[in-house]
Amino acid sequence: MSETTSPRIVIVGAGPAGIGAAATLVEAGLHPVVIDEAHRAGGQIYRRPPAGFVRTPEQLYGSEAAKARALHTLFDRLAEDGLLTHCAGSSVIAVHAGRLHVLGEGGVQVIGYDSLILATGASDRIAPVPGWQNAGVFSLGAAQIALKAQGVALGRRIVLIGSGPLLTLVGTQLVEAGADVAAVLDTSSWYQQMRGFSGLAARPVVALRGLALRARLGRRYHAGVTPERIEVDEQGVAALRWRDAGGRQRLTPCDMVGMGWHLRAETHLADLAGCAFIYDMQWQQWLPKTDEMGRAGNGVYLAGDGVRILGADGAEIAGRLAAAACLADLGYQPPSAGADLRKLARLERFACGLARAFPFPAAMVRTLPGDAIVCRCENVTAAAVREGADFGGSEANRVKSLSRAGMGRCQGRFCQLAAVELVAAQAGCAPDVVGRFRGQAPVRPAPVGAFLRED
Ligand SMILES: Cc1cc2nc3c(=O)[nH]c(=O)nc-3n(C[C@H](O)[C@H](O)[C@H](O)COP(=O)(O)OP(=O)(O)OC[C@H]3O[C@@H](n4cnc5c(N)ncnc54)[C@H](O)[C@@H]3O)c2cc1C
Repeated sequence: MSETTSPRIVIVGAGPAGIGAAATLVEAGLHPVVIDEAHRAGGQIYRRPPAGFVRTPEQLYGSEAAKARALHTLFDRLAEDGLLTHCAGSSVIAVHAGRLHVLGEGGVQVIGYDSLILATGASDRIAPVPGWQNAGVFSLGAAQIALKAQGVALGRRIVLIGSGPLLTLVGTQLVEAGADVAAVLDTSSWYQQMRGFSGLAARPVVALRGLALRARLGRRYHAGVTPERIEVDEQGVAALRWRDAGGRQRLTPCDMVGMGWHLRAETHLADLAGCAFIYDMQWQQWLPKTDEMGRAGNGVYLAGDGVRILGADGAEIAGRLAAAACLADLGYQPPSAGADLRKLARLERFACGLARAFPFPAAMVRTLPGDAIVCRCENVTAAAVREGADFGGSEANRVKSLSRAGMGRCQGRFCQLAAVELVAAQAGCAPDVVGRFRGQAPVRPAPVGAFLRED
């Protein structure tokens, strides 16, 4: 195919999945456009600090430093050699009729595509705890980003609550950076964690590394806890009230709470691109439907944590596979996929183990007191969501329009799972019956002025 007839392939996301896809396409002689809202490629796990910061990859990424360095070098080389176009600092805010609406410094521009690879990653999976709307409460991801990108601990005395690998990891990273971490509270009990054992055995080295990190937390770590309330004073967070596994009430003074229950796939753009979704019982969330290569139909391909939370290695492989599918569909010779598919199956077994060991705390959410805020953007309480379900029935979007839960700037990223659990409990049905909030453009807050053009 000559250069003038080269297909326009756009990749959204320059994390391991996006970089894996870009490298595969360049290898086949194509020139993809890679769009990412971060200023430097690397994605979430390999997030780079601003230019001029001096911490080494070993200090930033620990055991993953060599992989981070290799991926950064690969992407920078492809960009410097002009083999791909990198639109950094640009957010894709809408997908419509084969075109992306991209918000950058100069406003919104429209970029057409023939094939679209979405590698948009994940974000924290959050469950509301009474008091979480106050100053001093962050997601675990935010705490880690502040630490990785800026070398900052977000509090003087920190309590982390949630479940999943990120809980242990952020706890250890903060401790090693010298922060005062008072407690790391896991809502998953030891018994629950053992239930994931057979899956976790698919990657014994990674599982052991996780246990070693856990050991470094020492007596700060507690399993099987129930968070009750984040207490505040005029400055913001003052303490966390919780019950331990034995049911004893505890109060831990702190000025920062970090919270997160593993991760949720970032699927807004897939929704706008018209992908079909299916409720995944294992992950307790709605996920876009693809074939094993990442094909979602109509020239759209999905890869990485935005489809399934398989971690950085899985994301890189999924990126390569999505690019291979795209090449095959466009009539190019794709690289062989057999070995990558086998590796992905092993990573999938491990990820299922994690999902079983560290579940979303649905029972805790279902019993939230009525005055607990569920949607932080719009200040919607658990009582208002329950009233919406009583009045409008058990359909997620009906309850959304009645209560305004999920209508704010985060577009339901942080409240959707909890709101759906509450509606399901109120209506006496399963969360998949309730459905999911429909994605709406713009998926990121965008100033009206960005849409205005002089011509
Ligand atoms: C907060 C957080 C912290 C994590 N920390 C760790 C860790 O310490 N160790 C670990 O092993 N794993 C960690 N993970 C998981 C790990 O980051 C992922 O498994 C891996 O990075 C997945 O790669 P990916 O390419 O699918 O997505 P990501 O690496 O997340 O990359 C997605 C990219 O898409 C971009 N993007 C998303 N939406 C848009 C949009 N609308 N417009 C433009 N760009 C967009 C993002 O800026 C990002 O760069 C973390 C995940 C999260 C969410």
